[in-house]
Amino acid sequence: MATVTHAQARSRLKKLLEAHAYDSWTGNECPVCGDKITPDQDDWEYVKMKRGSEIFIHTFCAKHWGSDLSKAEMRKLRAKEGRQ
Ligand SMILES: [Zn+2]
Repeated sequence: MATVTHAQARSRLKKLLEAHAYDSWTGNECPVCGDKITPDQDDWEYVKMKRGSEIFIHTFCAKHWGSDLSKAEMRKLRAKEGRQ
């Protein structure tokens, strides 16, 4: 897992969104709750996996990664306890 600053992660996400502007890229979906993450939000993290795939995940959701909750349940939980 590479460590990057939030500013670096933000510019990476911006680049990816620009590169995929006209297709149905869903790589900015939080893998836990399914909501899309945008560069102007603050409460998310960037994770680069060993095989090179990149994940954008809410800080709140990262704590629940691997839990048995469905994406819909996670969205509800995040709305109740988290931000954004
Ligand atoms: Zn999330």
